[in-house]
Amino acid sequence: MSQENQQYHPETNAIRTRAAQTQHMEHSSPVFLTSSFTFDNAEDMRAAFADETDANIYSRFSNPTVDEFAARLASLEGAETGFATSSGMSAIFASFMAFLKAGDHLVSCSSIFGSTHTVITKFLPKWGIEYTYFDINSPASLEAAIRPNTRMVFLETPSNPGLDVIDLTYVAEVCKRKNVILNVDNCFATPALQKPILQGADIVTHSATKWIDGQGRVLGGAIVGRAELIKEVHTFCRSTGPAMSPFNAWVLSKSLETLHVRMARHSSTALSLAGALQSNDKLEWVKYPMLESHPQYTIAKKQMTAGGGILCFEIKGGLEKGRKFLDALQMCSLTANLGDSRTIVSHPSSTTHAKLSEEERLKVGITPGLIRISCGLEHPEDIKNDIEQALQKA
Ligand SMILES: *Cc1c(COP(=O)(O)O)cnc(C)c1O
Repeated sequence: MSQENQQYHPETNAIRTRAAQTQHMEHSSPVFLTSSFTFDNAEDMRAAFADETDANIYSRFSNPTVDEFAARLASLEGAETGFATSSGMSAIFASFMAFLKAGDHLVSCSSIFGSTHTVITKFLPKWGIEYTYFDINSPASLEAAIRPNTRMVFLETPSNPGLDVIDLTYVAEVCKRKNVILNVDNCFATPALQKPILQGADIVTHSATKWIDGQGRVLGGAIVGRAELIKEVHTFCRSTGPAMSPFNAWVLSKSLETLHVRMARHSSTALSLAGALQSNDKLEWVKYPMLESHPQYTIAKKQMTAGGGILCFEIKGGLEKGRKFLDALQMCSLTANLGDSRTIVSHPSSTTHAKLSEEERLKVGITPGLIRISCGLEHPEDIKNDIEQALQKA
C-alpha cells in the first residue's frame, strides 16, 4: 500500500492512499478480482506461507483492493491498520470472537443495532460469554457493570435508532483504568465526523453498508485499531472466512473519496430539517445531536464535528399515526437501510421492532410514534416539503 504523505489532511489521504500502481500506470485503482495469487518459484511460495513476506496468497487472507479500502479507512480513523469484512455484522462478530472466550464478560447497552443485540444476548451466552447492559444515558452505571472478568466494552454513539450520545473520553478513561478493550461502532458518525480512536477507543467497528457506501449498493464492514489487535482479528478471519469481496471493496474504496463531502451535506440537511420540525405541532419532540434540546448536546459538540444524517421524532398519535405518515410520503423511500443518497424514513414500532411487546420496545427506547429519518442528498427543500406534507395528511 502506498500510504501517501501522512502530513496531508484526512480528506486527502482518503483519496491518495492507494494500492500500488501496476505496469499499466492506471490512474484509478483497478479491481483485483482474483481468488488467489501466483509465485515464481517454490522458495517464494514457502516464504509467503511462513509469513516471512507479506505477499498475497489467497483472497480469504488478503487482497490488494480489499487492503486499499481497509488502509484508507484506518487512515481516516487515525488507526494503525484495519481488516475489512463482508458486512458490518461480520465485523462486529469477528471483533467479539477475536478477543472473547468462555468465562469472559462483555459490557454493552440496549441502545445498539438490533442484530448486534441478538448476537450479544442469544449467541455469545451459548459459548459461555456473559454480558451486562448499562444505561447509556447514565454513564456512571458503566463502571458498576464492569467485573473482574470483563474483557470488552462495546457501544455505539450516536446510537441506532435513539441517537443517544455518550462521552467517549470518559468511557475510554474508565476502560483504560479497568484494563478493558473499548470497541466502538462508529457507523452513524463515520470518521468524517468523529474519530473514537483519537478519543481513546482501542478498536472501531463499521458497517460500511451505510454512510461509507452512501448509495445503497453493497454490504461491507471493517475493524480498525492498533496493529497488535488487528492481528488477532486477522487470525480469526483468515480461517473463518468473512472476507470482503474485492468488487465491494473497490466500490467502498471509491466511496471513501467522497465521504467528507457527502457527510457535510447529509449533516447540514439533517440539522436544518430538525430545526424546522421543532416547531411542527404534529410532533411531540425532535431529536438530533446538534440541537440544543438534545440531552447530550454539549458532549456531541465536543466529540463530533457535525451531527450526521440521522434525526428522529415522535409523531403525536403513536403507532397508527406513524403508519399513516409512512403511507402519505410521496418521495422518501420506505426501506430497511440507512445512509443512502436517497432519503429513507422508517417507523421501528410497526416494522423492525414489531415483534417485541410495547414494554420491550420502550426498554430499548422505541416509542410508538418514533420515526427515523436518514437524510439523503436530494435538495433539502424537497425533503422538508415531503415530510411536512405527509405530517399534515397523517
Ligand atoms: C447496519 C448496522 C450494522 C450492521 O451492518 P450490516 O452491514 O448490515 O451487517 C451495525 N451497526 C449499526 C449501527 C448499523 O446501523
